[in-house]
Amino acid sequence: MTSPDTFVLATANPDKAKEIEQILGSSVTLVPRPVSVGEVAETGETLLDNALLKARALVAATGQAAIADDTGLEVDALGGAPGVHSARYAGEDATYGANVTKLLVALSDVGPSGRGARFRTVAVAVWADGHEVVAEGEVEGTIASDPRGHEGFGYDPVFVPVDGDGRTFAEMTPNEKHRLSHRGRAFRALATGLSSGS
Ligand code: IMP
Repeated sequence: MTSPDTFVLATANPDKAKEIEQILGSSVTLVPRPVSVGEVAETGETLLDNALLKARALVAATGQAAIADDTGLEVDALGGAPGVHSARYAGEDATYGANVTKLLVALSDVGPSGRGARFRTVAVAVWADGHEVVAEGEVEGTIASDPRGHEGFGYDPVFVPVDGDGRTFAEMTPNEKHRLSHRGRAFRALATGLSSGS
């Protein structure tokens, strides 16, 4: 019998998995996704659709409760793009660097006051009986003109949170990022939802 605090973690992205483990700490036990379970295509139109797709597929494959998340970067000057397509902004299997380069090129004519953006994360827990808990987190920021820093992953070298001190997420320690970040906020809210039994 699995403990009620044990969840299979849906993400196959080791950068995301590391952050989720750091944020949740000992509040839950996370077990990795079995390698035999293939990746789920993120075909949903919203972050919530995709997070639920991933978690429900894992529950169906393992019979165990699962946690999943989906994140998007919404850039005001691009009408909210790349949004739900953030992972494949520069094409299928695009590298983090290619996505950042495409973003900086797209914003090359946009001055500092037009570079507003936000990260949004939807985190979900789904149980085998169909029960679900959903939480969201977001962080407002601006897109820097050049990449700075080597921590974090993805768009972190060009994202400057408004509640910070001018550094990009990639110039912060992991704990500094988690205090402010979309993922930190979403997973702390999810942990509260799990502990309140909602
Ligand atoms: P996913 O769909 O949740 O895996 O995230 C989509 C893409 O958003 C990732 O491939 C990263 O490029 C980017 N991303 C997600 N979370 C972060 C973050 O915390 N910092 C920077 N980029 C991120």
